[in-house]
Amino acid sequence: MNEFEFLDGLRRQTDSRRHSTRLLTGIGDDASVISQAGNRDLIVTTDLLVEGVDFYPDATPARLLGHKGLAVSLSDIAAMGARPCWTFLSIGMPPERWEDQFKDQFFAGYLALADHFGVTLSGGDVSETKTGIVIDSIVLGEVNSGAAIKRSGARPGHQILVTGTLGGAAAGLKLIENGARVSQSPPSASASADDESIQALLLRQLRPQPRVGWGMVLGQQELASAMIDLSDGLSSDLKHLCDESNVGALIDASAIPLDDDVKRLCGRRALDPLALALHGGEDFELLFTVAPENVSRLPKKVDGVAICNIGEITAAKRAIRIRERNREWDLQPGGFQHFDR
Ligand code: ADP
Ligand code: MG
Repeated sequence: MNEFEFLDGLRRQTDSRRHSTRLLTGIGDDASVISQAGNRDLIVTTDLLVEGVDFYPDATPARLLGHKGLAVSLSDIAAMGARPCWTFLSIGMPPERWEDQFKDQFFAGYLALADHFGVTLSGGDVSETKTGIVIDSIVLGEVNSGAAIKRSGARPGHQILVTGTLGGAAAGLKLIENGARVSQSPPSASASADDESIQALLLRQLRPQPRVGWGMVLGQQELASAMIDLSDGLSSDLKHLCDESNVGALIDASAIPLDDDVKRLCGRRALDPLALALHGGEDFELLFTVAPENVSRLPKKVDGVAICNIGEITAAKRAIRIRERNREWDLQPGGFQHFDR
């Protein structure tokens, strides 16, 4: 049984055990939605990062790990169209990490990102582990009642859009696996353009930028009909969105915004930009759908980040097709899954 089959079973068990009608959305979206007094809904998400599985400690400076620990959860709050407000952070680490600079640098990175978005660290837990670091970051956010953007609102004819560029984080992971490391000093005058691209891709993997501004604009202005963040990979996350909405999609391969540094380095390093953009995870961009009449209301950029229209929702239930020049084929989900052996 893989991760998603297990979660489907868990979801069925909890659907028949709703102890409060105030839980508006439970298992199955980027975050849960709980109605509050005062015309607000609370949005809650939690994410686990495990050493050796979600990050390699020798390639991940502690400060960047702190940043990423929060960024992954902020991204899920953004994917609901919500404003992030509070965070809780639980961390387990072996005694040797407790003794060195790790924990101070980790929290410096965590708190710097929290400050950037006006999010308050409000609690958590600390534990000693026998081996390895484990991080669980919870973020709570808010929307006006009923304004959360779920995965289930896409309808045939709605346009499919994505923020930023894709493929960079997966390329960064491949570079790490091939031994590349993030430079701790500013770029030297002798750094080549390739070196700069490699450093940029490492940071796409190690220091993701959650699209909090875009999430809030899409939520507050009721622009998006459905949304998900790209954590597993476009092919997998679009499938989650289509399955929840009971629709299909047709994607135009030439419209997918490929990361410039991936394009620069591809070929020479056996990186196929389109494959990385389709199946590589952790770009933490937002994938969302917009009804045709709302497309012209979309801002061009938010926080300097542009969007691209990459396709259209179809009535072909749960079928995802991709078109490249005059060829069209089924896009199989190829993103990351835990317990996918
Ligand atoms: P995301 O990638 O957006 O963080 P996940 O794929 O991790 O989402 O999770 C999918 C859904 O399953 C989410 O709604 C999440 O809350 C739920 N989920 C994951 N693990 C558990 C668990 N152990 N118990 C209950 N719900 C879970
Ligand atoms: Mg998500």
